[in-house]
Amino acid sequence: YQCTKNMKAKHVGIEFDDHIVCEICRSPDAEDGNEMVFCDSCNICVHQACYGITVIPDDEWLCRPCKDNKKNVTCILCPNAGGAFKPTSNGNTWAHVACALWVPEVSIGNVTTMEPVTKIKSIPQSRWNLICSICNVKSGAPIQCSTKTCKTAYHVSCAFNEKLKMK
Ligand code: ZN
Ligand code: ZN
Ligand code: ZN
Repeated sequence: YQCTKNMKAKHVGIEFDDHIVCEICRSPDAEDGNEMVFCDSCNICVHQACYGITVIPDDEWLCRPCKDNKKNVTCILCPNAGGAFKPTSNGNTWAHVACALWVPEVSIGNVTTMEPVTKIKSIPQSRWNLICSICNVKSGAPIQCSTKTCKTAYHVSCAFNEKLKMK
C-alpha cells in the first residue's frame, strides 16, 4: 500500500527485482506473520521476525536509524555501510543485526524487538585484531571459518556479500 502511495506521490518507477532478500537472514521468502518489510526512507528490506517488527504500521515503517533521523550510521562490528542496523547498549554506537547474530560473543537484549545489541565488551581483543580475508581491512570484529583447523577470518557482511556459505 505504502509503495503504491509513494509511487503516485513521488512519481517514481519501481523496477521489480526477484532477487530481493532480507538484509539479515538473506532469504527471499516471506511467510504469513513474517512479512518482508521495506523502510520507507532508506528502502532496506527485512523480515518482521529478523528485525523485531511486532506490528506493521498502516502508514509508513522506518528502520531504527531512519526513525531516529540518523544518517550514515556505521557498524561497530564491520566496515561495510548500509543494511539493517540496531543500536548497541554501549550508547552511541550501532551494529548490523546480521553482524550481531553471527559474532559469537555478541547478544541481543530483547529478541522480540531485536534490540539493543549487547555484550560488545565481551568480544576478546584477539577477535578485534583479526584481518578480514575478503576486504583486508583490520576493523570491526571478524568471524572465522567453522572448520577448526582453518583460521580464515572475514567480516559477517563481507562474507554475505561474497555469498560464502553461512549456515
Ligand atoms: Zn530475514
Ligand atoms: Zn531505513
Ligand atoms: Zn556489520
